[in-house]
Amino acid sequence: MSPYLGSCLCGAVALEVEGGITSIIHCHCSKCRKASGTAFATNGFVQRSGFRITQGEAGIRRFESSPGRYRHFCGQCGSPLYSENSADPGRVRLRLGVLDSDISERPMSHNFVTSKACWEDLDAQLPRYEAYEPGR
Ligand SMILES: [Zn+2]
Ligand SMILES: [Zn+2]
Repeated sequence: MSPYLGSCLCGAVALEVEGGITSIIHCHCSKCRKASGTAFATNGFVQRSGFRITQGEAGIRRFESSPGRYRHFCGQCGSPLYSENSADPGRVRLRLGVLDSDISERPMSHNFVTSKACWEDLDAQLPRYEAYEPGR
């Protein structure tokens, strides 16, 4: 299986993942909402041994959002990339939105739903559009 490829919005950072992704969830916790600026973040574990920053490593910044937990992002465009937990050094928590490759794994749950934004309706029967809504 070829590695999954990912990159940040500006393209300065590129990464690759070998060995697949596990425990993919949509996280609605307040930290993920703020760090992403969206309703939830979609995150999954990858093995550190199969995780490589292939470009732009020097431009990556990190923020310790709770003791021992570091959220890494592109210092140029701000894209969230991955997080590390010093208590779990064998794995990296990848922000799945950075991936450019199609993946075979799928999310399994919505987590921290008691922290979700009041305007986020998990079961909303909202219309689906391929791009912007009509009239925009
Ligand atoms: Zn960037
Ligand atoms: Zn979270």
